[in-house]
Amino acid sequence: MATQNFDPTKPVNMIDLTCNQVDSIYQHMLSKGMPEVMWTVDIQKYVWEEVRDAKKNGKKLIAFGGPVPVTIIRAFDCIPFFLDTIPTRIASMEDLAGRYIDETEKYAPTSTCAIDKVQIGVALKGEFGIDIDAFVHATVPCDSARIAYPMMERLFGCPCFTFDCPFRHDEKGYAYLAQQIEAFIPFMEELTGLKWDAGRYEKFKGIMEESNKAFDLLTQLGDLRKKTPCVLPGRMLVLNEIVAPLAGTEACTAMLQTQLEMGNMLADMGMTATRCPEERYRVCLMQNMLWSNTGIMDWMEKCYGAITVMDGFGYQDGVIFDDLDNWERVKMQTAESMLLTPMIHGATGPTEYWLKVIDKMYEDYKVNVSIFMGHVGCKHTWASGKIVTDYIQQKFGIPTLYVDVDAIDPRYKSNDELRAQIGEYFESVVGAENFCK
Ligand code: SF4
Repeated sequence: MATQNFDPTKPVNMIDLTCNQVDSIYQHMLSKGMPEVMWTVDIQKYVWEEVRDAKKNGKKLIAFGGPVPVTIIRAFDCIPFFLDTIPTRIASMEDLAGRYIDETEKYAPTSTCAIDKVQIGVALKGEFGIDIDAFVHATVPCDSARIAYPMMERLFGCPCFTFDCPFRHDEKGYAYLAQQIEAFIPFMEELTGLKWDAGRYEKFKGIMEESNKAFDLLTQLGDLRKKTPCVLPGRMLVLNEIVAPLAGTEACTAMLQTQLEMGNMLADMGMTATRCPEERYRVCLMQNMLWSNTGIMDWMEKCYGAITVMDGFGYQDGVIFDDLDNWERVKMQTAESMLLTPMIHGATGPTEYWLKVIDKMYEDYKVNVSIFMGHVGCKHTWASGKIVTDYIQQKFGIPTLYVDVDAIDPRYKSNDELRAQIGEYFESVVGAENFCK
């Protein structure tokens, strides 16, 4: 469990605290002389310092939740601040995550997703440490978010914009969302005092070209993970979630490029960056990432030779924008990409959408161990879990382990309990040898 590194009796400045923590890791790695992995921390420094320094750099800060067009926000010279990065970042810090979850539970049901509880808790305590100029959110991915975001609107008291995301992910659904993307432009114009004119559109196109590069690299990284053995560790899936707020920045493209070069180099040398003594199993975590205990992936690699090749959150079909001069086409593709965002793509429409994601993950990544790492907040995915796991059993012949977890609140299940549950499955159902015994 990570140390709290804060005084619980005093107010917290979340952004400063996080920037300081990331900087400590950065300095530690510098002092240890680890140049080959510095890029993994460089990008974290970038994401947090960009938010911290927005005002200093004369930019407005736009908090957002759910899938929103961050490239448009950047085209208006604003910094998008993905609120989910706070709970996912502090999930392994029991005292800090608990501080905000407990605060929210004074007013909201405990069954609310802990991602939302942390965000609301920080807002209730007034501990973001930065001023938010606007809040943009969507009506997906779930009931929890649909209740939490309007509450946050009231707490933030700033201009807000809501994307009403359709249930159907098809041309009609994209067209419905595209209308709202059109309506988002005057909202941004009024907020910033800037015009969506030819010059701004040129800037937008540059950002979109950079975003295209990021999604192309992400696809190549996905392809690399299909190789046997998988050269990149499960932890890289967590790092790549950073694409959500950073797509369209050179920093994001550079991080993905470095990761790809490193992975290709390892593959060429017949090596891997995983902790597997020998790859025996290829695991799919089919629901959310377990942010409160990402170390469980390292443990599966080391003790069972089981590498997490893909997770349901990290899996994405990036949309490559193919006609940037055509605004109508760009709006439709933006709508499509919003609905293909992880956590949205498989879980915000009919179960068939989730089955499609399952097909791609299990076939392409040659999965042979299936784990439903079920975050208790995601009640909508538990609702279709039986359909999905029966499908996996029938189509791929793989029995799925159900593990209930709280992806954000580490108090829900201890590391020992989690290891016991997963270990028993590996040894009694999969028939795996435990290299750590
Ligand atoms: S983790 Fe699940 S419950 Fe929480 S916000 Fe995401 S989809 Fe909703």
